[in-house]
Amino acid sequence: MTHLCHAEGCMITVRPKMLFCHRHWRILPDLLKAAVYRVYVVGQEDRKDPSALYLMVQGVAVAFVARHEGRWSEEQTHAHLERRFELFHEKLGAAEKVLFRKLMEAWP
Ligand SMILES: [Zn+2]
Repeated sequence: MTHLCHAEGCMITVRPKMLFCHRHWRILPDLLKAAVYRVYVVGQEDRKDPSALYLMVQGVAVAFVARHEGRWSEEQTHAHLERRFELFHEKLGAAEKVLFRKLMEAWP
């Protein structure tokens, strides 16, 4: 089964454990890269059981790249992020909510 880069509109095949292709990964600020590494659990792509925290961070990363490339408007981006947070915030602990706020502050 092919696994595509999660960036909006990108058709590059990447290994299942990778979130983005190389070009899109490089767009992320260091804080977001570090967050993705921190919340990734080895083998989640095989078990298909990414955590709520991972899905939230992934959502932030996807939105960041889409906004950076001008594919999403500011409104679309905010709507996407709010939806992600609504979907997952009940499963997140206090520290994880702090991480989300930090990620949002790292926004350009
Ligand atoms: Zn890509």
